[in-house]
Order: sequence, then C-alpha cells, then structure tokens
Amino acid sequence: MGKKITKLRAAQGSTVDPFDHFLTLYGGFLPSGQARWCTKELKLRPFERYVGDAPTLSYVAIRGDEDREGYISRKPNIQAIFPFRRNIWSREVINKILHRDNKERIITLCEELGDNKKREAMIRVIRQPMSDNFNLDHKLNALFDLSLPTFNRIVFEFLKATNYPLSFSADFPLLDDENVIVRDDVFQLLADSGVGMPKYYDVLDFKLNGDAGTYARSRSGCYFCFYQQRIEWVWLYEQHPDLFKQAMSYEKDGFTWSQRETLAELSQPERIAQIKREHLERRVKKNNTKRQYLIDILDDSEGEGCNICFI
Ligand code: SF4
Repeated sequence: MGKKITKLRAAQGSTVDPFDHFLTLYGGFLPSGQARWCTKELKLRPFERYVGDAPTLSYVAIRGDEDREGYISRKPNIQAIFPFRRNIWSREVINKILHRDNKERIITLCEELGDNKKREAMIRVIRQPMSDNFNLDHKLNALFDLSLPTFNRIVFEFLKATNYPLSFSADFPLLDDENVIVRDDVFQLLADSGVGMPKYYDVLDFKLNGDAGTYARSRSGCYFCFYQQRIEWVWLYEQHPDLFKQAMSYEKDGFTWSQRETLAELSQPERIAQIKREHLERRVKKNNTKRQYLIDILDDSEGEGCNICFI
C-alpha cells in the first residue's frame, strides 16, 4: 500500500530467537492468559523502546462494533487513538474530560465551541450528575448524539493544556470524522485495497465418519498462541504439521500451551475425532443463524485474546 514498515526486533543482540530468549529468562514458563509475557516482551516493549520519549499517537484499529479497549501502552508520551470507533478517545482521556473536577472547564469550552442550536443541550448533559441510570457511557453517548464533532473539538482543546501528544498538534482531521468502521467494512477495505484476506482464514473441509465439517484459523497471531480454540490446534496439526511439532517442542517440564492437556495428548486420533465432533455439534447449533462462516468464528472468539496481536 506504499507505506513504509519498520520491523522491530525484541531481544536485540541475543543470539537466539527472541521468543526463546525470553522463554529462558522466564524459566521455561510458557506464556498464558494469566501471564502474557509474550505480548509485553515481544511487541509492546520493542514498540515503546522504538518510540522512546517522543510524543506519539498510536492508532488502534479496534472496530466500531467491538466493545473493548485493547492492550495498549500506558506510557504518558504514547496516546492511543481509535479511528474506527465513534469514540476515538481512550477511556483514560474520557474519564478525565467527564470528571466532575473538570466540569466548569468543559462547559466553558462548550460555550466557546458549541453551535447555537446544540450548545444549551450539551451543557445540560455535561451538568447532569452521574448515577446508576446515567453513567459515564450514557453521558458520552448523549454528547456524541448531540454533536460528535463539537465534543471532539472540546476534547482536543482540553488536551492542549495537558502533556498528551495531541496537545502538540495544531489540528486533527479525525475530529470531524463521523464514520464508524464495523466488521463488514474491514473486509471491504481489505478487498478494495488488494490486500485480501489472509490465507489462514480460508475455510477448509474435513470429514468425520461421513459427516462433513469445516475449520480455519479464526485470527492472526503466533502459530502457537494459547488463545486459540482446540479446533484450531487440530487445524494446525493437520494443515501445518511442522509448526504443530514446533509448538509441541516447547511443552517441557509440565508447561503446556493449553491448560487441560498437552499437544501430544491433543493430537491423538481419538482426541482429534472428539474435538472435531464437538466442533460439528456446535456448528449445527449455530446453523439457524445463517451467517457466514468467518463471521461466526470471529463471533466465537471475540472477547478473548489481545488486541495488539489479533485482527
Ligand atoms: S498472538 Fe498469542 S502467543 Fe503471540 S504474542 Fe499475542 S498472545 Fe502471545
């Protein structure tokens, strides 16, 4: 797409693969959902080191139809922006803007920036105390409903008096952007740009005692990612046996990728048949929804995993 990509490497100077380097440092303890050192050491830290102390905007492509914040850097010189969502701001920025201590400042900005028709209504919403029935998200959405560009401009002006990276910008084009990018839009963007869908999303057929099923990898990330579903491990075993073997070779001294079993156990023929059977049964239950396969599996897997790794 004509964009320059800088590839960063963790454990620079180490003579072994970066993952192996950190695995040794962590005493052979494989990463897991509870101890996700892989993302921290191999992705977040190299990115933070590369950025250094320079004010940086980090664009996080969480879609408008996802309800999550993501695993983002907390360094003060790195500000996360969510261009695909209606709310482009991070939770931390919104908490600050709508905090009662900043109410008068926000009202002043609203008086300066709001258009005549919406100004009074916006000020009423800003003044409305929060309660169980009117929480921070309600307040935020009410302000967006009244005028998203005005609210964005209020935030932008407010940030000018802070050290947030955006305070160094004279303007910001996303302030007036009301587009929300949802899942179908992402597929469309991939198709229109010529990038296409990654091959691992291709839906492949399998047979189980005469029954036909399908499987695919449900998202990007490392081949051995502990977040993958069991049917994806089976997919890896059957479609990329070399990578499955490599993942297996990391399971030593009682450390396993999956909490319930080793990959050696998971790859036994009877266990594979059982996982496929369970997968088929789940698909039958979902058949009434008449949705596309990829969309189904994305639904199945969303809410888990880390946003720095998965698209
Ligand atoms: S894809 Fe999975 S294994 Fe890879 S860094 Fe992310 S969480 Fe860790």
